[in-house]
Amino acid sequence: MTDEQLLEWTRQISADQFGREFKDHISFNKRLRTTGGRYLPGKRKIEINPSYLDEWGKDEVEGIIKHELCHYHLHIEGKGYNHRDKEFRQLLKETNSPRHCTPLPSAKRRPMHEYKCETCGYLYKRQRRVDVKKYRCGRCKGILKKLKESY
Ligand SMILES: [Zn+2]
Ligand SMILES: [Zn+2]
Repeated sequence: MTDEQLLEWTRQISADQFGREFKDHISFNKRLRTTGGRYLPGKRKIEINPSYLDEWGKDEVEGIIKHELCHYHLHIEGKGYNHRDKEFRQLLKETNSPRHCTPLPSAKRRPMHEYKCETCGYLYKRQRRVDVKKYRCGRCKGILKKLKESY
């Protein structure tokens, strides 16, 4: 799907389900990692994570667009457009938009911490922090070194 098709789709959703016109910008942004989309109030721009289309399909992305349209329309109307605002929660409900989007399967599987054995070089990926003073390499008993903080 191209950015033009995404814009056309968004205009349609906005007209059909919000009864409001979408007059600004939307595009795919490959750099979004764990969020399905975001709204940039300063630029009046919605960005959509293209991986969601590949991994979850159109229904999920339609939900993301609707969620971002809730931010957008309330913002340009000068109403409360943040997650905690009453007007925002109200519009989510009225338009049957999701509160949060489903995390990507690839993002869910992404390890939080990585350790490397200093002796044999074996790489360990763990969801939880490992105490490197206590735990040694399971293959050679070498010392583990932390490579990455959680992200
Ligand atoms: Zn949001
Ligand atoms: Zn080792």
